[in-house]
Amino acid sequence: MVVVSKAIIRLADVSFSYEGAEERALQGVSFTVEKGEFLSIIGHNGSGKSTLAKLLNGLLLPSEGKIEVNGIPTADDAHIWEVRKVVGMVFQNPDNQFVAPTVEDDIAFGMENIGVPPVDMEARIQDALEQVNMTGFRTAEPNRLSGGQKQRVAIAGALAIQPAVLVLDEATAMLDPRGRKEVLEVVQRMNREAGMTVIQITHYLEETLDSDRIIVMDGGRLVGEGTPESVYQQVDWLRRLGLDVPFACDLQYRLQQKGFRFSTLKMTGEGVLDSLWTSD
Ligand code: ADP
Ligand code: MG
Repeated sequence: MVVVSKAIIRLADVSFSYEGAEERALQGVSFTVEKGEFLSIIGHNGSGKSTLAKLLNGLLLPSEGKIEVNGIPTADDAHIWEVRKVVGMVFQNPDNQFVAPTVEDDIAFGMENIGVPPVDMEARIQDALEQVNMTGFRTAEPNRLSGGQKQRVAIAGALAIQPAVLVLDEATAMLDPRGRKEVLEVVQRMNREAGMTVIQITHYLEETLDSDRIIVMDGGRLVGEGTPESVYQQVDWLRRLGLDVPFACDLQYRLQQKGFRFSTLKMTGEGVLDSLWTSD
């Protein structure tokens, strides 16, 4: 029987050094991302998360090792636009993401780059702006928008490309809690309903609780990987890496220190409370 792999991204022993830097920003990183997966990447500042994101769509190329997107090596110059079509990217700082004088032109520019037929653009712009609640800003000048609005437009631009994989590198950091929740709901819906693969890098750990898998980075290395339950059980280890844990996991951990016993890790405050009453 032929086993067909569903991996959409594959990293094999990837290392990366910035020019002139003494230490490697990434060291021997290997993992695969399955089609349709919702993956979160966590790690403290400088652990290599943004470098990793830029390697995923060929903005940076591995110094050693190999990355394949849909079987295409990112180092293959001739096919780099196919890689960019598959992997959409939104970064933390929206200010350097705009090239056109209006929101709609900016979204159209991104689509032109990957060869979306002009007849499809209108509907895609409308749809993408609806997803992020920004339809009223079609003809606005991107640079005059607030930080949060800019970031919504950047996300709309990425959605309009209809990438199979969306990488969000601290993309909601500029938004207020409500804005962050809305954007997370949009990408969760696209993941669930359209099968879009999502790779989110975030330091808001609460936003990782519904992920299929979490990858933990430290000092340029992948140091941990697993379900949210298995990762957030390791409270002492995460703290040693300079990371916190979500509220409910911390609460449960503290109660355990005081002698309470739980059969499973709860991911919500309600879950912790319920199991206290039922001695689960
Ligand atoms: P994170 O996103 O997890 O904060 P980065 O990928 O930005 O981590 O950084 C990883 C390492 O690479 C850090 O040591 C950082 O100082 C270094 N680094 C990042 N960008 C550059 C750059 N443009 N030139 C040189 N070193 C860099
Ligand atoms: Mg970063």
